Amino acid sequence: MAAHTARELKPAPTLRLQAALQLLTQSGMTLPADAPQGSLPWLQAVIDGLCMLSSRDALTGLSNRRQFELAIAREIDRVARAGEPALVLMADIDHFKVVNDTHGHAAGDEVIKSVAQSLQDCVRPMDTVARFGGEEFAIILPNCPPAFGHTVAERIRTKVQRRPVMVSPGVEVSVTISLGGAFAPQWVRSSAPLWIERADQQLYRAKAEGRNRACLEQPTVLQVSAEERGLLFGTSQFQDLE
Ligand code: GH3
Ligand code: MG
Ligand code: MG
Repeated sequence: MAAHTARELKPAPTLRLQAALQLLTQSGMTLPADAPQGSLPWLQAVIDGLCMLSSRDALTGLSNRRQFELAIAREIDRVARAGEPALVLMADIDHFKVVNDTHGHAAGDEVIKSVAQSLQDCVRPMDTVARFGGEEFAIILPNCPPAFGHTVAERIRTKVQRRPVMVSPGVEVSVTISLGGAFAPQWVRSSAPLWIERADQQLYRAKAEGRNRACLEQPTVLQVSAEERGLLFGTSQFQDLE
């Protein structure tokens, strides 16, 4: 009887949301005013807000590395199953250290934000633009035939070149980027590190050849018959084992 009373006196469990709410407020997110605090729609909005924060880069608002890893894994799956052509572009700001050293770290941040905006402006809504590291970006372009890939890479390169960045009142900095790109091998299940590595090699080539250019790997076109596709993804080869 005494144990029963003690259980009844135990305070009801509550969610500790203070830190989460602080994060959301600090990043300018608002929760629905019409949903009472603690209600299901309100909690859903908190979860959505946290998901958004954990998938975005704080400086640029682009996808962060975590979100990029998810997107590239999805794309590898699609390429293997549907044989769609897909491109990964890696982009790196040229001589970025000079910007930091000459104008300061805050100016460097402005340059990174401006380049991020240029990248986002040049791609389709279905493409994923991510901040990969300091001043390096990665773009996943699903359903991207080779000619389109070259056009987009060149569009991005010229967009950045033509958009000087105002780093302080009256001070403009010219920026260029180098890009490297690799197409996913169709009908083959590649891996994210291997695909990125091939795009990176093209980026090194763009840097070595003088920067402010885009180098894309020649896509390999595999001829795969419908029957071979069936062998890859169907169960027909296991039927005699059943
Ligand atoms: P390269 O043309 O060969 O790419 O030359 P680079 O000067 O751009 O060389 P590198 O790519 O090695 O330079 C990266 C610099 O970016 C070094 C680092 O201090 C700076 N950096 C990394 N992250 C940030 C950031 O978030 N903000 C700022 N302002 N600078 C950053
Ligand atoms: Mg770099
Ligand atoms: Mg650089």
